[in-house]
Amino acid sequence: MLRKVVISILCLIVLVFSIPITFLALHSDEPEVTQNVDKTDETGEENTLPVGAEADPSASPIAVGTKEPMDTISVYIASEDRVEEMDFSEYLKCSVAAEMPASFEEEALKAQAVAVRTYIIQRAEYYQENGTPEEHKGALTCTDSTHCKGWVSKEEKIKAWGVDGELYWKKISDAVDSTCGVIMMYDGKPINAVFHAMSSGATEDAKDVWGSDVPYLKSVDSSLDKNAPKYETTLSMTKEEMKQKMAENIPGVDFSDGIFGEIERTATGSITSIEIGKVKIKGSEFRSILDLRSTNVSFNVVGDVIHMTIHGYGHGVGMSQYGANFLAQEGKNYQEILNAYYTGIELVAYTEQ
Ligand SMILES: [Zn+2]
Repeated sequence: MLRKVVISILCLIVLVFSIPITFLALHSDEPEVTQNVDKTDETGEENTLPVGAEADPSASPIAVGTKEPMDTISVYIASEDRVEEMDFSEYLKCSVAAEMPASFEEEALKAQAVAVRTYIIQRAEYYQENGTPEEHKGALTCTDSTHCKGWVSKEEKIKAWGVDGELYWKKISDAVDSTCGVIMMYDGKPINAVFHAMSSGATEDAKDVWGSDVPYLKSVDSSLDKNAPKYETTLSMTKEEMKQKMAENIPGVDFSDGIFGEIERTATGSITSIEIGKVKIKGSEFRSILDLRSTNVSFNVVGDVIHMTIHGYGHGVGMSQYGANFLAQEGKNYQEILNAYYTGIELVAYTEQ
């Protein structure tokens, strides 16, 4: 008898608690138009699920916005040398499409959407206050990926995707829409949301790469990047070829004591500075002269040949895109991914001030 009562009570408890869960599950696919509930203090660590628990990527711990921070944005289309006023959301979709493979996981694409939105807002606010750079011809952003963020027109990209075109566009479109208005903030301001293709196994501290200390751009583990395609690349050349290449690009080199002198590296092994023919240059300069995929280079000299092994791709600061995709494959949602790469940030639905 007592057993029956206990079972009945247990059933009742399960039923009562499962109602809100079912309700939430049923509504998680709907466009998120929640109010600005402050749940943004959740960090990646707090979001870490206990072993055995399943992550529910659709369970959004932060409130997304009902509209983007800007309705439209002026964009300088570099290839056509003209400025176009674009719908902001459409601009974001075209930029995400240019910056990350659409075959990546949905949560990685959402993380990318938030990163691009944050980056553009941070820059746009700066340009609005301080004036736009000359090469923008008055626009707040441009389509040159080396200057601002990459951009490709919807039609062009759908065509390039071929049979998967419409499907991929929808995937990217959903990633932007389902994170509507969400950006990363630090100390009450939009962050400089830099990202790169893949790290050398850990991301770089901004201070080591660009010289200025940025509290949210610290070196973090990203060891899953080692599984990325072309994580390791190699380049070999003779000593003579190396000397010639360096002499063409660095004034005043003197190879009387050999080619390489002192090499300074970050904790991850990336070159911050390197002495070439008695001239000290930055690791980034060395990378650019040889067109290497990153500054994480190790050398092995055999006879007359210099063998270089390069790890990762890009400057290594902020979010690793491949790393984001690997985390998404492990069941992490976009908030967890962003919190893993940007230290101490807040995710908030942002409206123009
Ligand atoms: Zn630009």
